Amino acid sequence: MAKRDYYTVLGVNRDASEEDIKKAYRKLAMKHHPDRNPDDKTSEEKFKEAKAAYEILSDAKKRAAYDQFGHAGVDASAGFGAAGARGFGGGPEGFGGFADAFGDIFGEIFGGAGAGGGRGRGNGVYRGADLRYNLELSLEEAARGTEAKIRIPALEQCATCHGSGAKPGTQPKTCPTCNGQGQVRVSQGFFSIQQTCPQCHGTGKIIPEPCPTCGGVGRIKRHKTLSVKIPAGVDKDDRIRLAGEGEAGLNGGPPGDLYVVVGLKPHPVFQRDNSDLHCEMPISFTTAAMGGEIEIPTLDGHANVKIPPETQTGQVFRLRNKGIKGVRSSVHGDLYCHVSIETPVKLTPRQKELLRELEAINAANPGAHNPRAKNWFDRVREFFGP
Ligand SMILES: [Zn+2]
Ligand SMILES: [Zn+2]
Repeated sequence: MAKRDYYTVLGVNRDASEEDIKKAYRKLAMKHHPDRNPDDKTSEEKFKEAKAAYEILSDAKKRAAYDQFGHAGVDASAGFGAAGARGFGGGPEGFGGFADAFGDIFGEIFGGAGAGGGRGRGNGVYRGADLRYNLELSLEEAARGTEAKIRIPALEQCATCHGSGAKPGTQPKTCPTCNGQGQVRVSQGFFSIQQTCPQCHGTGKIIPEPCPTCGGVGRIKRHKTLSVKIPAGVDKDDRIRLAGEGEAGLNGGPPGDLYVVVGLKPHPVFQRDNSDLHCEMPISFTTAAMGGEIEIPTLDGHANVKIPPETQTGQVFRLRNKGIKGVRSSVHGDLYCHVSIETPVKLTPRQKELLRELEAINAANPGAHNPRAKNWFDRVREFFGP
């Protein structure tokens, strides 16, 4: 049966306040409560429907997920979700449920699944959860492309029972306690409340003879090694989707997808900015003053940079096409070399003597040799007055 829109069920607008939603639910719950309408199937359905709608819309996170993804967004919490996968841990390089990728919204949905362990919809066919793998690449690997081998833990459909959990030759049976509903009604004073069926734990099925391989779960934890082709030019946060390599489905459902998410290791020389590379280029102050040529590394070998005389700190030299060709781009980026002039250190008495001599000559005409310093001192003097 197709589900009705939760806002329609409660009769509120999509921008209804928390208070409006609560009021609308209370009204419906009072009207359709089973204790007031004994043996009225329609009322019972309406009551359940309102309760389900309120459960989602009264929770800000679930409501956000519902607004964004509809019933699919919140129904993922039934069944087993990615709860199993989350146990594999995250870390900078590692493996987590896809929950990690979307943060709280999905975390909430999948997290709920781990705690509740299903909500009586166990007969359903579920697509396996999408999974995420964080792959750290060096700058060179990302620039040139590579073939990465990744080893992932995964829940795979049990080959012995093909996911049913029942010993070959036997069948799962409908749970006699709840008649396959997954929920039972328990009376408490004036009220009767729904509870997850204690015998089948909400799956609606019991397995009289469990499969010896998986112990009745239908899925087994395995490691598998996948070879992933990383295209040249990928950047951090790029995702590569491996269809069908996610978690196995439940009750014969299709598997989820695996998303390989690229991260970049820090590089000792280059910083990447999209297709461009940046590096610091320290030069001696003699080279800066008199000019010269220095060799710098690039991603494909070395290149020579001509330093003109009177080069200053902070000047940037651009080497065209020495950057990275982005994965969605047809042109190479550039390499930017940022000059930093190194003050000489550990001077000998002789070097000091030469520098003092140089400074004395400079001081005779500071405007000519150190124009910026002279300008600055002049401005400072103006500022403080004569
Ligand atoms: Zn099995
Ligand atoms: Zn049951």
